[in-house]
Parts: sequence; C-alpha cells; structure tokens
Amino acid sequence: MKLFDVYPINDIEPVKAQGEWLWDKEGDKYLDLYGGHAVISIGHSHPHYVKKITEQLNKIGFYSNSVKISVQEELATKLGQVSGFDDYQLFLCNSGSEANENALKLASFANGRKQIVAFSHSFHGRTSLAVAATDNKSIIAPVNETDNVVFLPFNDVEALENHFTIYGDKVSSVIIEGIQGVGGINIASDEFLQAIRKLCDAHGAYLIADSVQCGYGRSGKFFAHSYSGVKADIYSMAKGMGNGFPVGGIIISPKLKAKYGMLGTTFGGNHLACAAAIAVLDVIKDEDLMNKATESGNYLMENLKGLQDVVEVRGRGLMIGVEFDFPIENLRNKLLMDHKIFVGNAYNKNVLRILPTLNVQKSSLDILLEAISKTHGKNSATSYEC
Ligand code: PLP
Repeated sequence: MKLFDVYPINDIEPVKAQGEWLWDKEGDKYLDLYGGHAVISIGHSHPHYVKKITEQLNKIGFYSNSVKISVQEELATKLGQVSGFDDYQLFLCNSGSEANENALKLASFANGRKQIVAFSHSFHGRTSLAVAATDNKSIIAPVNETDNVVFLPFNDVEALENHFTIYGDKVSSVIIEGIQGVGGINIASDEFLQAIRKLCDAHGAYLIADSVQCGYGRSGKFFAHSYSGVKADIYSMAKGMGNGFPVGGIIISPKLKAKYGMLGTTFGGNHLACAAAIAVLDVIKDEDLMNKATESGNYLMENLKGLQDVVEVRGRGLMIGVEFDFPIENLRNKLLMDHKIFVGNAYNKNVLRILPTLNVQKSSLDILLEAISKTHGKNSATSYEC
C-alpha cells in the first residue's frame, strides 16, 4: 500500500532528537527552530517527559471516558495553576481542529445561534466547522461551505462594530488567534480584542481564543490573548500542550454549563495524553519557560531586526515572524539544506516563521542569526529574487 500523497516532504528522516536538536539516518545534526509546526514546547525527548509517559504506559495507557481517570483531574488542577485560569473547566480532545470544533459547538449550544465571526488570514484547522472558519478557500471542500461563517478584516474595529450593529443578535461566537500563526505572525491588537470582548458581552455572543499555536506559554504569557487584558469565554489548545503527543483541549469559562452528552470523544483525555500534558506543565513551571520565552524572543527579535532586507520582525516570546522584501522559500531551503536549520514559512510568502522550543539555548539562536546573515548577505541576495 502507498501513502496518500498529500504532503510535499523534505528528503530528511530524523531518527533521534534531543532539546532543539535532531539527527537524521546519516548521523547529520539539525537545529530545529520550528518544532514540527510549533509542537515542541519543552524540547525533544525531555527526560521528565519521557519518564512520565513511560511510567504511565507501564501502569495503564488507555481507558474510555466512562470511568474515573484521575490523571485528567491532576492535569486540570495543574493547568489551572500554571495558566492562572483555575476557575475554568477543562474538556480534553486530540487535536487543535477538534478543540476549535468543540469550542464552536459549545458556544452554539449555549446561545442557540449559528453565526460564527472569523477573520482574514485565520487558520483554525481542517475539520468541518474549523475549516469553514479558516480563511483559505483551497482547503474548504464543497461539503464544508456554509453561510454560518462570516469573515471580517483582521484588526479592523470599525468593520466589527458595523457587523454587530446589524447582525449582533445572530452572532454565536467570534473566533480569533491571539497571534495568527499560519497567516504570517500577525498580532491581534489590544484594541481589537477589547472591542470583540465588549461586543460579545453586549450581544450575548462568546469569544473563542484559538490558542492552538500561540498558547501554552509560547508568547511569554500562557495565552497570547492575555496581553490585551481580555479574558475569553473559551480557549482552545493543542500543539505545545503535548510536546508531540497528540492532545488538545478547551478551557471553558464558569458561565458555560456542562450537560451530559453535549461533547464527547473516545480517545480524548486518555491516560497517556494526560501524562504527556502534565509533564509539559511541570517543565514549563520548573524551568520558568514563559519568562525564558520572553527573554529569548526579545533577544532574537532585536538581532533579527538588524539583518539585511528585513522589512519587519513581528511576534511575542518565541512566536516570531520575519518579513523580508522577497519570497523566503529559497532562503528557507538554504537554511535547511546548507545550514541544517529547520524554520517555517507562512501564508504570507515573505515571512519566515520561527517557533523554537521554549528552552532553546541562546547559542542556538546565534547559529540562526549567523546563518541568515551568511545566506542572505549582499553577495547572495540576488539568488532569492523571484
Ligand atoms: N488553530 C491554529 C491556530 C493552528 O495553527 C492549527 C494548526 O496549525 C490548528 C488550529 C489546527 O490544529 P491541528 O492541526 O492539531 O488540528
């Protein structure tokens, strides 16, 4: 049987990983400053993470949500402590799309409405509602097309107010990333998030903070939306939550009430996923990773700004976008092939996306800075023009 060929892949096979480093079959060493799409939060194969998952697997790996699973409660307690949202309620699932799907459903169950407001350049996942709320027509199948989702321009307070003036009583939820990841590292402004909060409150709609990529400490705060001082009704999480183990979830404001059967999943919240997520939280706390992300991010952003042809450096903590005045695909390939450094791209073709592990070493960031300046020095600049 062949694999369903949907991924353009690099001809590299990592077989071992430690911290921010990967080794391929040939023994070549790579610097991972992308974490496989923002997934690696505490570093590859962190010893505490390996220990926790191994110990759990030696006890019990899975049973369904029909029995008491006390590691779920341990996870909820630790998540409340580390995030500061201890009055919220936790529902566990398996991925970011699924988390958003559940958030959108929950809001609709609660206020009985259908309209979802999403924004230009958003990415919320690939399942039916999550993809319908994603601003990329090429991944929306005809069956996912729906009039229930309305797209408004990102960071445009006036357009938002105008929409609520006319359709306010129809809006079920507004979904927004605190920092758009796939869209190209675009920060939601404080003013915009505050306006969403105010309008949702005034019209009985719910604010869903998609924190799948920008959450779990990556921005320097547990949730990137918190920079605005705004609290969302539901936060969705995945990616860094399990450091590679598939786990996702939503945390839900106390104003939303649970009812048996309204949400559910077979695998979500299984013992192994909880062990992984607990280990991640332990390490975030013990190694002070949110402050480290801020420090390392500031250092990297400051130094990226000085590089040639950089138009803008955007981001918070270790969620960083570097916009050049040319498409970055060649630069990205050269960083990978010549310098053995993984970084990402974005919907905005001129943006290099940098998403290192939160405990990345400063010396590793220096390797990237040097590689970019060498690859993209005056002498080689013309080779990237398209
Ligand atoms: N939301 C955001 C902001 C994302 O970046 C992603 C994935 O890139 C998703 C949701 C979907 O997550 P998953 O791929 O785990 O379904």
